[in-house]
Amino acid sequence: MIQEKLIKKAQQYLANTYTRYPIVVTKGEGCWLWDLDGRRYLDFLAGISVCNLGHVNPNVCDGVIAQAKKLFHVSNLFYTEPQIKAAEILVEHSFGDKVFFCNSGAEANEAAIKLARRYSWKKYGEKRHEIIVMENSFHGRTMATVSATGQPRFHEGFVPLLEGFTCVPFNRIDLIAEHLSGKTCAVMLELIQAEGGIYPAKKEYVKKLRDMTASKDILLIIDEVQTGIGRTGKFFAYEHYDMEPDIMSLAKALGNGFPVGAIVGKGHVMEAFEPGTHASTFGGNPMGAAAITTTLNTLIDDGIIKHCEEVGKYLHKGLLSLKKRYPFIVDVRGMGLIWGIEISTDGNELVKEFLQEGVIINCTKGNILRLVPPLIVKKEEIDIFIDIANRIFERKKG
Ligand SMILES: *Cc1c(COP(=O)(O)O)cnc(C)c1O
Repeated sequence: MIQEKLIKKAQQYLANTYTRYPIVVTKGEGCWLWDLDGRRYLDFLAGISVCNLGHVNPNVCDGVIAQAKKLFHVSNLFYTEPQIKAAEILVEHSFGDKVFFCNSGAEANEAAIKLARRYSWKKYGEKRHEIIVMENSFHGRTMATVSATGQPRFHEGFVPLLEGFTCVPFNRIDLIAEHLSGKTCAVMLELIQAEGGIYPAKKEYVKKLRDMTASKDILLIIDEVQTGIGRTGKFFAYEHYDMEPDIMSLAKALGNGFPVGAIVGKGHVMEAFEPGTHASTFGGNPMGAAAITTTLNTLIDDGIIKHCEEVGKYLHKGLLSLKKRYPFIVDVRGMGLIWGIEISTDGNELVKEFLQEGVIINCTKGNILRLVPPLIVKKEEIDIFIDIANRIFERKKG
């Protein structure tokens, strides 16, 4: 009752940019959420691949609270220890040499786009500013990142877009070769197209793409906003591909729910950012930096990535068993703990049924169920998910 009243109020006061689940969430712990009526839900969405260490992780919580009591914010006109520490951990565990901090995935990609243009401009002058992007990609909602996003549904009503993006089909090296030109400064892609429906890049494709871009000093930007921070069973998705990008963007799970973003880049590339070229008032602020440091330390110290790889295999097995049983499951794709179940019926209806059964999942593209549970998920919790999926799918089949 109170819940329904609040939802009415939300519809009155909040911009109508989201189709929301009809519950008011009040509390989270591990893989579980509670609503205002006290009902408990198994969360296989994790704030959209954000709360990789589970909801309200005690280490991150304590780290942020301790920092909040010392210093909320001071601006990037000063050095702070938390920011330096956060950058050091990111560099130590990646291909990169330097970090720029911001507050979201779109901002991180925005920074990557600006950095690529600036790097090319400094070295080669004007007119070498084009970025090749992928059909079916998703890079964010700012004008530059919407322009970089290869899905027309995100463009509707927002033209004119930013110039300088050439969109090509994903996983097609012949088309990359065809479109690279003297004007190209970068190629930008996700290694698993996530919003696009969980489509992984092929190994051979990424290898050739890396060689091709490196030979022409064209930067390779990998959007790891959703795939980074252990999600795929490695620290970063690029580690599955035996190569290193020039720039990667991070956000989502980087602060386990605290709003932070970053780009990590190779030293000679990051040098194109000089004082005055790019900035963010809140980027790397002490609380955000504390969230990053405690998130990454917990991920490493608690062996979460190894756990993700293991239970990811377990979940995959369960999903394959579902696929065998239900003919409306067309495909199961993913790695680690990012999985898509492609179905031949309406996915949004199924998401509602899962919610009624106390499980939170989501649907992209209308027919691809997306599973991105916290990386700390236990096998018993995966069993609960598979049981409930069986119950729902059995009804659907019947
Ligand atoms: C979510 C997402 C973004 C956008 O991140 P925001 O924090 O919502 O701006 C960009 N790229 C990818 C791959 C994402 O999944």
